[in-house]
Amino acid sequence: MRTPEPVSGDPGTDAQRAAPADTGAAARWTAGLPKAEVHLHLEGCVPPSWVGGGSGTGAAPAFTTLGEFLGHLDRSCAQVTRGEQLQHIAQAITARARESGAEHVDVIFNPSHWPAWKRDLGGFVRALDAGLAAGEEEHGVTSALCLSLLRTQPPEDSVGLVDWLLEKRPPRVVALSVDGNEAAAGPTGERFRPLFARARAAGLRTCAHAGESSGPDGVRDAVELLAAERIDHGIRAVEDAALVADLAARGTPLDVCPTSNVRLGVVPSMAAHPVERLRAAGVRVSVNTDDPQLFGTTVAGEYGACAAAFGWDRRILGEIARTSIESCFAPPDRRRELLGALDRYLADPGGTALEDGPPAQEGSR
Ligand SMILES: [Zn+2]
Repeated sequence: MRTPEPVSGDPGTDAQRAAPADTGAAARWTAGLPKAEVHLHLEGCVPPSWVGGGSGTGAAPAFTTLGEFLGHLDRSCAQVTRGEQLQHIAQAITARARESGAEHVDVIFNPSHWPAWKRDLGGFVRALDAGLAAGEEEHGVTSALCLSLLRTQPPEDSVGLVDWLLEKRPPRVVALSVDGNEAAAGPTGERFRPLFARARAAGLRTCAHAGESSGPDGVRDAVELLAAERIDHGIRAVEDAALVADLAARGTPLDVCPTSNVRLGVVPSMAAHPVERLRAAGVRVSVNTDDPQLFGTTVAGEYGACAAAFGWDRRILGEIARTSIESCFAPPDRRRELLGALDRYLADPGGTALEDGPPAQEGSR
């Protein structure tokens, strides 16, 4: 796989700079493949150059553990104090999605990382909504927001967030999630179970991080206790054959982020990444960026990296894209529309069925 290059956060150009580096025909086909991104953190979309008051060099720091990484997220998110900054970040998400052929994005945000907005979570979500609406208008990329709880936060804070979510029903927020360091938090399924049940009863969708810093037990808790519709990561399920069979039988999708896992040392290398073993065992998987501004990842780049590492052909890449669309939290009509676009793209041997054709990459070679 390519060594990920941290993406510069110059507000005017982050979308262009996040373009896939490979300009070959295979990369163009992959970038034109209609898909969704379902594992993307707002916290991982803050331009690195904003950290340290905006005078930074744009280079992302080197982190080798999830703990270091989460510490960095807190420092970078603390720089975001104005609504215009949030709007910019949100709009840039849709611009990057467009370049990767991601027609819909589910954006996870975790209020515990944004200290400036602690007392104005409503204003925080409104700013994101405005940026995502502008991005949809400009790039045709639809989006939804997932409010995420932090595994290690005080229990009363989690309850307060769910109370707020269900009372206010803020715009574009369609799902409840949980993330954070599972190794540090220990088993928390029982603690979050009633909150997920309340969200589900109120009509919200659900997803949960598990099987990254936790083993198969964390994945089992997310499926059985939280009844999460999607598992973010989930890759360490591979250590338990019965669980793998269960995930395949249930059809529970795993939102896998291969480069993130390599960068944070969850797996030693792309070649050793379990996503291919899980897929081959019948588990539904999608591939995603996790934190594009910090890992230098693009959705199309992740598809390409997997194709290179595992020999995925167009049929398999099409399956991955189908899972991403089927498992995204867009409304049913939008999912049907995107599945139709995917079918047309796959039926065209040249792979040029999209109206505008694949994104032009000429000149970036
Ligand atoms: Zn994640």
